[in-house]
Formats: sequence, structure tokens, C-alpha cells
Amino acid sequence: MTGTEVPRDHPRYASLVTRHRIETGVDKGITSKQGLIAQGRGEAFDYLLGERTLPSADTAARAAAARLLLADHPVFSVNGNVAALVPGETVTLARVVDADIEVNLFNRTEERMVAIADHLREHGAEEVKGLAGDGEIPGLEHARGTVDADGIAAADVVVVPLEDGDRAEALDRMGKTEIVIDLNPGSRSPRTADVPIVDNVVRAVPNVTAHARDLADASSADLEAIVDGFDPEAALDAAEAAIRGSAFDDD
Ligand code: ATP
Repeated sequence: MTGTEVPRDHPRYASLVTRHRIETGVDKGITSKQGLIAQGRGEAFDYLLGERTLPSADTAARAAAARLLLADHPVFSVNGNVAALVPGETVTLARVVDADIEVNLFNRTEERMVAIADHLREHGAEEVKGLAGDGEIPGLEHARGTVDADGIAAADVVVVPLEDGDRAEALDRMGKTEIVIDLNPGSRSPRTADVPIVDNVVRAVPNVTAHARDLADASSADLEAIVDGFDPEAALDAAEAAIRGSAFDDD
């Protein structure tokens, strides 16, 4: 089945198209086999969330946009799932908030780094970082901690969708402000984040962009008020409550 063959009125249309993008990502050497497992885990949580953006996730997306607009050196970290699911949306968000894009893989291979960088360029990225690998995240073994010295290593704010918990904690120890997009509110990465967005990356990235466009002319004081008013614990609690509440719903 291809993405175009899924009938638009299928009740799980968005989910099936998303799944197909990941399959294509694996075929193109962009997404790893472990990425398929991560996708399956994400789908289960998205199903329980009703495959929609919760009001709390929308609030988090607005706080993320404000953080990004206030940042000196924001970097959007891209792995194989993100590259397969939202390449064009990632490039657009990076352009709107003036962020760098860096490929950052849990299972780093030169081939996959290059394939993802090429894929992002095909979707409009001008500069893609990550290939230099001349910086490190302290506290992680070499392959897991390799980043660019003028990219993630130098960033003040990092967007890390679907990030592994160890790396999210290590970035936190480096003092980075972390915006994590992850469908599982119980996972370590969103629990480490300054701004956890519990939403599917396919909905969350364009939503952060929409908020960033809306806030483009806001003053620093207004942006800081949005950041200060955001409560990460409340966002995680609201997502968990939605999942627990929906688990035994009939509809
Ligand atoms: P941790 O080490 O933080 O506990 P984990 O072991 O759960 O993380 P992985 O196995 O890498 O992490 O799983 C990937 C994570 O990404 C899961 O929490 C999953 O819910 C989430 N995820 C998968 N697909 C998406 C998606 N499309 N949008 C947002 N989150 C997703």
C-alpha cells in the first residue's frame, strides 16, 4: 500500500500515511529499524490521546515558539524518524525561528547521516549540520555523544523530538534549554524537558511554526511572560490524564 492509495475518508488516514512515511524512510536508508519500533510505540500513545493535539500540547507549542524566538542559538535536532515524517515542516520551522538544523542519530552511521542531510536539502534546507562531528555531549559514550561544535554543542535552546532519555538528560546537564516532542508523557525525555510537547511530531512541528509566526512581532517581555507562565509538570499531567481517561472509553 502506498500513501496515495490510503482512502482519504479512512478513519485512520493520518495514522496510515504516517506509518507509510516511516516505511519509505527505512527503504531510503533514512530511518533505522529501531525507528520502526519507536513509531509503533508512538502510535499506541497517539491512539490513546485520540490522535489530536490536546489543549495542553497547544499551550506547550506556544511556549516552545516563545523560547525559540528568544533564543540566541537555537538548534533543531533531526533523527531518522523526524526526517522521514516532517522534513519540509522542519525546514520551515527552522527558517521561521532562525534555527540551525543538525542531524543527530542514536545509531550514527556515515551513510545514514549523509542520506538524511541530502533528504533535508531536497526539502529546502540550505545548511545541515551534524556531519562534522567535532563536538561532544559529555557523559555519553563517543558514538552517542557526537555532535557539531558549532551546532548542538554551542546551542542555548535545542528542539529534540523523539529523543532518547540518556541524551536528553545529558543535554540537560550541559545547561541546554530543551524542547522535547514525544507522545509518551512517562518517557524520560519529556520529563527532562523545559518544554515537553506531548503530541505527534507531524502535528507539533507545524503547530510550533504557526505559533512562532503569530508571535513574530511580540516583544521580548511578552515572550518571556509566555515562557514563565508555562508549567511543564502541568502539561505532562494533562497528557497523562487524557491517556488514562481515554483508555476505557467506548468512543
Ligand atoms: P526513554 O529512554 O526516554 O524512556 P524510550 O526508550 O521510550 O525513551 P524510544 O524507544 O526511542 O524511547 O521511543 C521513542 C519515543 O518517541 C517514544 O516515547 C514514542 O512514544 C515517541 N514517538 C514515536 N513516534 C512519535 C511521533 N511520531 N511523534 C512524537 N513522538 C513519537
